[in-house]
Amino acid sequence: MTTPVHDVLIVGGGGAGLRAAIAVAEEQPDLSVAVVSKVYPMRSHTVSAEGGAAAVIKPDDAAQHHCYDTISGADWLADQDAVEAFVAEAPGELIQLEHWGCPWSRDPDGSVAVRPFGGMKIQRTWFAADKTGFHMLHTLFQTAQRYRPVTRYDEWFVFDLLVHDGRCQGVAALELKTGALRVIPARSVILCTGGAGRIFPFTTNAAIKNGDGMALAYRAGVALKDMEFVQYHPTGLPGKGILITEAARGEGGVLVNRHGRRYLEDYDLGQPLDVGDPRHPQLRSMELGPRDRLSQAFYWEQEKGHTFEGEFGAYVHLDVRHLGQKKIDKKIPFVRQTALNYMGVDCVHECIPVRPVVHYMMGGVHTDIHGATSLPGLFAAGECACVSINGANRLGSNSLTELLVFGRRAGLAAARFARGHGPVAADVLEKKAEEETRRIVSLHTQGAPGADSLATIRSELNAALEHGAGIYRQADRLAAACEKIRELKERLGRLKVLDRSRTFNTQLVAALEAQFLLDAAEAVAFSAAARRESRGSHQRLDYKERDDERYLKHTLAFRTDGDPRLEYLDVVITKWPPGARVYGKQ
Ligand SMILES: Cc1cc2nc3c(=O)[nH]c(=O)nc-3n(C[C@H](O)[C@H](O)[C@H](O)COP(=O)(O)OP(=O)(O)OC[C@H]3O[C@@H](n4cnc5c(N)ncnc54)[C@H](O)[C@@H]3O)c2cc1C
Repeated sequence: MTTPVHDVLIVGGGGAGLRAAIAVAEEQPDLSVAVVSKVYPMRSHTVSAEGGAAAVIKPDDAAQHHCYDTISGADWLADQDAVEAFVAEAPGELIQLEHWGCPWSRDPDGSVAVRPFGGMKIQRTWFAADKTGFHMLHTLFQTAQRYRPVTRYDEWFVFDLLVHDGRCQGVAALELKTGALRVIPARSVILCTGGAGRIFPFTTNAAIKNGDGMALAYRAGVALKDMEFVQYHPTGLPGKGILITEAARGEGGVLVNRHGRRYLEDYDLGQPLDVGDPRHPQLRSMELGPRDRLSQAFYWEQEKGHTFEGEFGAYVHLDVRHLGQKKIDKKIPFVRQTALNYMGVDCVHECIPVRPVVHYMMGGVHTDIHGATSLPGLFAAGECACVSINGANRLGSNSLTELLVFGRRAGLAAARFARGHGPVAADVLEKKAEEETRRIVSLHTQGAPGADSLATIRSELNAALEHGAGIYRQADRLAAACEKIRELKERLGRLKVLDRSRTFNTQLVAALEAQFLLDAAEAVAFSAAARRESRGSHQRLDYKERDDERYLKHTLAFRTDGDPRLEYLDVVITKWPPGARVYGKQ
C-alpha cells in the first residue's frame, strides 16, 4: 500500500531528523514533510545524551578557538570548511532551541551556563543538568508538532530506498504494528538514522543503533566515508556499556587505577585539573583530554596490569566523591542515579567502576556541506552522515550541535531539491517495493530452521570487531575480522526467520537489522585494514605514526558483490595546516 507523496521524507525522528523537519516546515511551509521512525521519536538515541552541546557563547571564547579544538581533536581529518560553517551556525541554533523552550542550565547571573568538556580548551558546552539530550529532543518534538505539514509514521521500519531514473524517490517500509509493507514516495529523502555502535559488544548505544541508514545508502551505491574511525568513550559501566557522562569529569571527577594512582598523569595529557577551581586554564588536561587518548591510556594500564579485574574484564575507578553530595545532586544527578541503579554504587561514598565502551561513529554516509549525497534526491544528517566535522575523533558535545546545524542544512537542501524535481513515479516504485517484499518473504522460507541463530551471528561479529578493530589495531587481527565478516554475511544469507507473525515481528526486524549491521561492520573493518597509519581513534600497533603524506585523506568505501572497493578523497584545509595534537605541557 502506498502513502501520499511527500515533498521531503525524513527517515529518523531523533535530533537530526526533527530539526530537518522543522526547517522544512518553518522555512518552506507549502511543502509536505514526513518523518518515518522505527521507534516513537522520543525513544530515539538522542534522548539519552547527557553531557551537553557545544557552541561559542562566553566572552573569553571565539569561533576560531572552537574551530581549532574541533580540527586538532579530529587529528586534522575534518573538512575545515564544514567545521567553519558548523561553528558559525552553532550559537544561533542553541539560542533558537532556547526560544523553542529548551531549559538550558543557568549561571547565578542568569546567563547560559557552560561546562568544560574533553578536548575543548575553553568551556563552551551548554547543558540542561545532565539530561541535555532529553530536553533537546523534547523541545524539537513539541516544536515539530506545531507544524501541520509534518506527517509522522511512527514505528515503521524502513528497509529499502526506492531509486528510479537515477534518483531516490522514496522508501519501502514495514509497518510494525500490522506487518503491512508500505511504499512512501517522496521527491527527496533525508537519512537521519543515527549510528552503528551495536557492531561492538560493549557500547553506550541503544539497541536500535545498527547502521540502518548507512547500509541503505551503501546498498544504493553511495560511499560510506571514514568508517574506520570509531570512538570509544573512556567511561562506560563494565558489562552494561551504559555511559557515565563526560560531565562527571567536567565537574571534577578523576580516574584512578587499582593502585589508587591518577594514572593519566603518566600519559602526557597535561597538568592535573584543579578541581577547586573548575575555570582554571589547565582544564585542557588530564581527565578532560580527548576521548581517544583516554581510552588508549586505559589500554596501556591494562597491559601493565594496573587495572582491576571483574566479571566483565578490566576496569578502573571514576572518583567523584570529593565533589560532595550537594554538587553531585545539582550538577550530575543522573550519574548518581545510574551508578546506583546499575552497579549498586552510591558515588557520593564510593568509586564508580568504568571501562572504555564504543560510543560514536565518526564515519557515515558521504555527504557535502549541505547533506547531499552522490545519489540525487538522497540526503543525510546527524550521526549516520559524515560531512565531515569529526574527522578521526569527535570532541564530546559537538554531536548534539551537529544534529541541529546539519539537520537544518539538509532539510533546506532537500526542500530545494524537491522544488526542482517533478512528480515521482509512484507505480514504478510499487513494483520495486514488490521485489523487495519478495526478498523479505524469502527470509521465512530460505535455509534450514535451527542451523544458525541471529544471536550467535551478532555475538561472533561483536567479538571479531572488538578483537580486530578495537582501541588498538594491527594487520593480522584486522584481516581476521574481515574474514569473519565474509563468513557471517554468507551465514546470515542462509538464516531462516521462523516467526511469521505480522504484529511486531521482532525476529524479522532483527534479521533485517543484522544485515545492516554487517554492511556497516564491513566498511569499518576493510577501511581500517587499508589505513596504514595511526590517527585519532584509529591506532595501529604496526603503523604507530600519523602519515599525512599518504593518509591525510578521507576513505570512501563502496559496496560491491565481494569486498568493498575503497577510494580516497582529499581533506579540505582552509586555515589550519596539519600540526601536532598537543594536550600535554605546552
Ligand atoms: C548515551 C549517549 C550519550 C551521548 N551524549 C552526548 C552528549 O552529551 N553530547 C553530544 O554532543 N553527543 C552525545 N552523544 C552522541 C549523540 O547523542 C548522538 O550522536 C546523536 O543523538 C544522534 O542523533 P541522530 O538524530 O543522528 O540519531 P538518533 O537520535 O539515534 O535517531 C535515529 C532515528 O532513526 C530512526 N531509524 C533508524 N533506523 C531506522 C529504520 N530502518 N527505519 C526507520 N527509522 C529508523 C530511529 O527510530 C530514530 O528515530 C551521546 C550518545 C550516547 C549514545
